[in-house]
Amino acid sequence: AGTQKTLTHSDLVEQGVRFLLASYVDLHGVPKAKAVPISHFDRMMNGSEMFTGAALDGVPQEISDEEVAAHPDMGSAIVLPWSKDIAWLPSDLYTQGEPFNACSRTILKKVRQQAAELGMAMQLGIEAEFFVLKDQEAGGFSPISTRHHLKKPAYDVARLLDNKPWLSELVEAMDSLDWGVYSFDHEDGIGQFEIDFSYFEVLRMADNFTFLRMMANEIARKHGGFASFMPKPYGDRAGSGAHFNISLTDINTGLNLFEPEQDDPRGCGLSTLGYQFIAGVLRHLPAICAVVAPTVNSYKRLVKQGSMSGFTWAPVFCCYGNNNRTNTIRIPLGGKRIEIRAVDSACNPYLGAAMILAAGLEGIRENLDPGDPHLDNMYEKTPEELASLGIRELPKTLEEAIDAFEADPLSRQVFGDQMFSAWTQYKREEWLSYITHVSDWEYDRYLKLF
Ligand code: GLU
Ligand code: MG
Ligand code: MG
Repeated sequence: AGTQKTLTHSDLVEQGVRFLLASYVDLHGVPKAKAVPISHFDRMMNGSEMFTGAALDGVPQEISDEEVAAHPDMGSAIVLPWSKDIAWLPSDLYTQGEPFNACSRTILKKVRQQAAELGMAMQLGIEAEFFVLKDQEAGGFSPISTRHHLKKPAYDVARLLDNKPWLSELVEAMDSLDWGVYSFDHEDGIGQFEIDFSYFEVLRMADNFTFLRMMANEIARKHGGFASFMPKPYGDRAGSGAHFNISLTDINTGLNLFEPEQDDPRGCGLSTLGYQFIAGVLRHLPAICAVVAPTVNSYKRLVKQGSMSGFTWAPVFCCYGNNNRTNTIRIPLGGKRIEIRAVDSACNPYLGAAMILAAGLEGIRENLDPGDPHLDNMYEKTPEELASLGIRELPKTLEEAIDAFEADPLSRQVFGDQMFSAWTQYKREEWLSYITHVSDWEYDRYLKLF
């Protein structure tokens, strides 16, 4: 795990922090905050910062409702590496002295508590893929590197070096937070990057991922670009996944509970508990998809082909296997953890992790068995083969995903009534707005065809 330190008030003072951000996320996982001078630290820690929820996407409040109060968590405080006089404090929302049911962070904390009651903690690593692009004067956007476009830009050194100014600043910022960056590369898209760093206990990782999206944008903007976490900005290229790498540890000993026993029933390097976790996730995968692939655009990523360079590496079926990227759930070489590939970079990490953990815990409680792992190239399976293997497809549109989410009792259980209705209502509207929009593609094809 990462070695990020927990800061105290005196650390903040010593580091010259002058302003604090009492911050929480909207439905999209985008941080919102009020800034507070550090002289008001005590008041702020006691919930002095009030917000009117109705101002934000997906916060189920009327304008006449009582405001929500942010209760910051010093356990996850971060001093902004690019603006060291400001500290960011992820907060839990409260209303009338009680935890606010529609707060993403609170929703994750509830499921995390259920794991703790079973003596377990979830460890989470997120492989962040994203694009860094720049606006063009004539409109539109382009990659920062102006070298010609390669058919296969993955791991390209020239484009990596062209992006070094913002990239090295971002990596150094991540390292200054002790996030333990261990590699970064140019990915398969044009202007797409991946930065891999340590895993953390799930709550801290959700906080860190939220912060990372903001930090990548702030640093890219200093260099004249912007970071995009849109899952699929280029239709013919691979999209941006945010693969969740998960294990469970014993809350007392810290030992990895996914470490295989002598007898590994399915041969992929996991414990029985690990396979049970997978089985729970597979059972609820279509509903989980709605949360981890939360936009209209997400479903343009979850396809086999269309990439200039051939396959997209994105998952399309509800299945698991060994170190094989055509499964939604992959057990990377060496085992002891699982990788969930359906997650994209637009995911609200609190809600995504809450759904996955709840599904995994159900698998453990009910001793579910995921069956045999799939070792073949699943992309090549025919519909008949998939049917005979009992493999379902992932939702193909946001609408199918919302349907699955609404139909699965786990969703309401995890989200609670308030967030469940706010979320489905928001996402239905998002779908309606998309499907009633007539695009240029349609005019090009049909307007003068007949
Ligand atoms: N970009 C791919 C995705 O959309 C993943 C590529 C990889 O395996 O790193 O999930
Ligand atoms: Mg990658
Ligand atoms: Mg991966």
